[in-house]
Amino acid sequence: MKPLTVAAAEPAALDILPSRPRLLIVDDQPINIQVLYQAFQADHEVFVATSGAQALDFCRGDPPDLILLDVMMPEMDGLEVCRRLKPDPGTADIPVIFVSAQQDPADETRALEAGGVDFITKPINRAVVRARVRTHLTLKAQADLLRSLAFIDGLTGVANRRRFDEHLQTEWRYCRRGAAPLTLIMIDIDHFKRYNDHYGHQAGDTCLVAVAAAIKKCLGRSHDLVARYGGEEFVCLLPDCGPAGAVRKAETLRQAVVALVIPHAASATAATITVTLGIASCIPDADTAADQLLAAADAALYAAKTAGRNRVCETAIGKLSD
Ligand code: GH3
Ligand code: MG
Ligand code: MG
Repeated sequence: MKPLTVAAAEPAALDILPSRPRLLIVDDQPINIQVLYQAFQADHEVFVATSGAQALDFCRGDPPDLILLDVMMPEMDGLEVCRRLKPDPGTADIPVIFVSAQQDPADETRALEAGGVDFITKPINRAVVRARVRTHLTLKAQADLLRSLAFIDGLTGVANRRRFDEHLQTEWRYCRRGAAPLTLIMIDIDHFKRYNDHYGHQAGDTCLVAVAAAIKKCLGRSHDLVARYGGEEFVCLLPDCGPAGAVRKAETLRQAVVALVIPHAASATAATITVTLGIASCIPDADTAADQLLAAADAALYAAKTAGRNRVCETAIGKLSD
């Protein structure tokens, strides 16, 4: 019988870790850089900076997943580098592990107070430093995942209401600065209560997933957003999109749902699932507020429902309404 061989491997990588995490090693001594480089280069993408200023430049360009940061460096020491990373939202969340020749608990305290997540003393032990890097990469990936889940609708996978509310504020400011049009489209599934009553709640859920996917497929531009706004209501936010483009887009969305051909025997509107859409467009300015755009889209949706469903109604507010 063959003897069992136990591989001296580290625990299997969690799926949430990037396949080759990007590490930045910052140290003014080439020999220290070399030791750390050797420890990580096989399964990490390793970058090197030999001064604090270089490290800051690198992080502001394309932030790494984690930084191994020497404490004692001429000109700008590691503590100062860390302090400068923390106020910037683009770099604040990068985990920083300090690597220091000092063994004094006071040094360690200062490093942790500057914002470091960990403190390792030189000479480094390869297995220890690898284990700690792995722990902090995992913690960071878990935190990122949690944050993103907080903004995703659990059923359909599109953005949730919270994400939409934030995005609306961001895009409102963006369009206001550039005096660009902003369009909001409210989409509501027709006779969905009857659909649930007739086919069951689970079929209703499946239908919501299909409608969400169909809407999402129609949105091409990177700043366009679709969100689940409520039960069977979705909302699309389209920056740099004026009234004419909005009507074309809404009509495309309406037809995309019709094209799903989901049977709806209990609908009073059609033999299949349909949606009704309300559009509101504006050029955000000092005299209008994002809430007005929402209210206007809601009113347009109501008008389209009253006019017979499976159709689009549009409205404009502010300057565009003249
Ligand atoms: P209308 O054409 O006027 O929009 O009628 P409607 O029946 O679609 O509108 P109503 O607001 O009366 O009903 C919405 C229904 O959507 C009721 C609710 O059970 C269903 N719904 C809301 N959220 C979910 C969900 O997550 N899953 C399922 N299956 N149904 C949902
Ligand atoms: Mg509704
Ligand atoms: Mg409805």
